[in-house]
Amino acid sequence: LSTRITRFAQRSDEFGALARSFNNMAEQLESNITAHQRLLADVSHELRSPLTRLQLAVALAEKNIGNDSEQQKHLRRCETEVERLDEMIADVLTLSRLEHNQNAFTADDIDLNTLVEQVIDDCQYFASSKKVTIELISTVNCPLLADSKLLASAISNVINNAVKYSPSGQVVTVELNNHNEKILLSVADTGSGVPVDMLEKLFSPFFRVADGRERRSGGTGLGLAIAQQAILLHQGSIVAHNRQPNGLKVTITLPCKH
Ligand code: ADP
Repeated sequence: LSTRITRFAQRSDEFGALARSFNNMAEQLESNITAHQRLLADVSHELRSPLTRLQLAVALAEKNIGNDSEQQKHLRRCETEVERLDEMIADVLTLSRLEHNQNAFTADDIDLNTLVEQVIDDCQYFASSKKVTIELISTVNCPLLADSKLLASAISNVINNAVKYSPSGQVVTVELNNHNEKILLSVADTGSGVPVDMLEKLFSPFFRVADGRERRSGGTGLGLAIAQQAILLHQGSIVAHNRQPNGLKVTITLPCKH
């Protein structure tokens, strides 16, 4: 967007007029994005303060409520919803920053095997609570330049989803391979998969396959949208396919370091 046509802008003919109107449009787009960013930051800040006060009020009420289990149930519900809102505000901001390239992107030499092992380690608690096993098969041996925190959070989201949508007792397989100067990282589960016409929409903000059930089971519906932006910042791509006979396979492709 920071591109401007300078070569023709001074001319008095059609080329000059075209160049000037292009420059005007670019300026307007830029100021719209800045305004949009500022609005998002302001809105999330304004939402955070009452949310914090609500959190405190709920905590206080919980202390004073005694043994009334019905009231305790309502208060726990309030607490969960407040936490969800808080998570959603944080995710909206993260996505917006990534979309507008406002995160400080730090590219380091990464050992992808170690990074993926750490991510799997962090997912183990959730996996064992569902009796799901996470298996890692790796033959990868090319170096990678990446923002380790950003990449780890994208991979973590995909693995956590695979665990979340896996039936209990099943295996989630994480595979790392090299192919044509690229690294392929795939995460495969044996869950329900996704209706074919919805596969591409998985990466759209707030998209959920079966809305009501998933809203109750947590998550903001922003995880894969954030993961996609993080992967795009690494010049990579992320796609999802259904597996036979069932399950979903999400594949992340990243360029090897040259
Ligand atoms: P959520 O917070 O709802 O998990 P995501 O952006 O991570 O949000 O995922 C979007 C939607 O994609 C989910 O709500 C779910 O419907 C679908 N989805 C993601 N991963 C899987 C999977 N491994 N198996 C089946 N459906 C999935």
